[in-house]
Amino acid sequence: MNLRNQLNFSGGPGVLPESVLRQVQEAIVEVPGVGLSILGISHRSDWFTGVVAELEANIRALLALPQDYHVLFLQGGATQQFSMVPMTLLRGRTQAAEYLHTGYWSGKAIPEAGREGPVRVVWSGEDEGFRRLPGEDELAFAADAPYIHYVSNETVEGLQFHRVLGRDDVPRVCDMSSDFLSRPCEAERFSLIYAHAQKNIGPAGMTVVLIRDELLAKAPDGLHGFLDYRKHVEAHSTYNTPPVFAIYVVLLMTRWLLDEVGGVERMGEINRGKAAALYELLDRSEGFYKGRVAPNDRSTMNVTFRLATPKLEARFLEQALSAGFYGLSGHRSTGGVRASLYNAMTLPAVENLVDFMETFKRSHQTAA
Ligand SMILES: *Cc1c(COP(=O)(O)O)cnc(C)c1O
Repeated sequence: MNLRNQLNFSGGPGVLPESVLRQVQEAIVEVPGVGLSILGISHRSDWFTGVVAELEANIRALLALPQDYHVLFLQGGATQQFSMVPMTLLRGRTQAAEYLHTGYWSGKAIPEAGREGPVRVVWSGEDEGFRRLPGEDELAFAADAPYIHYVSNETVEGLQFHRVLGRDDVPRVCDMSSDFLSRPCEAERFSLIYAHAQKNIGPAGMTVVLIRDELLAKAPDGLHGFLDYRKHVEAHSTYNTPPVFAIYVVLLMTRWLLDEVGGVERMGEINRGKAAALYELLDRSEGFYKGRVAPNDRSTMNVTFRLATPKLEARFLEQALSAGFYGLSGHRSTGGVRASLYNAMTLPAVENLVDFMETFKRSHQTAA
């Protein structure tokens, strides 16, 4: 059988493990022990209450999350968090929230925050085309900011922070949508982490929010119920009908991470190995494949590169697709090539891509 899922290099929704897909296939018809399809089980059932409880416990275990965090499963994607975060933490404040502008997705979060209150862009990589991340000597954070916000992995550009930013006396807020549970993240150093499921940990439709209890006490009154984290805390993530299917698949993914992979430390090692295989090829290609970003800021999740001419790039993408490597076109905003190596992408699949790229290079080197 041709395991198509091994060849899905898409930027998102991303690849899921074969073993999880098999369980999903079974659950579509009948969840073992329940006698109903996953698509028709009530979110008010004891079974689903158990799913939410187990998923929460698994995430706490994977991240060694302290007890004073709430674990929420929301809708609206990461995009809704671009708004919910400043509604909760910035509305009515006079000090500016501090945002880093490191790429496409952080650039989407900034104007949404601006609707709620003052925002200061601490650093922007825009003038340099988002080819690198800032060093510590380029960053000065204010002690009185309501919070700082950054994106740990800029999915479009292929930039990833390999350290925690900010200061310990100002709440850190981080969009980890494209690297959540792909490596250890020192969750206890953040006040709020959000990540939608569809890059690393499941299908689209669900967003994980980890929020420290003390932030809720300071939230303004009068928020719409659906946009108020406190309502979701009280309702244990069933304030309205939640995406039962998506939440169940994420539960299966956390079981896979715990039982088959062996935790996020191990997942991080595997992900570093996959990325290294591809970056080593770029580095020894003598400029045939040109990496987009500064080597120190390379992402383990999204490997971005260009070829010499748009024509050669188009030929590469076309031949890759017919060889079974799906989803390699760069984001519509940047072009180029992007290989996304999310958790379920296997090392053998990455090695297949490396072989394909070696062969393509040999047959096109002189033509370029
Ligand atoms: C894909 C992505 C988003 C957009 O998420 P939606 O769920 O589509 O709203 C936001 N942030 C990051 C870092 C992403 O990779």
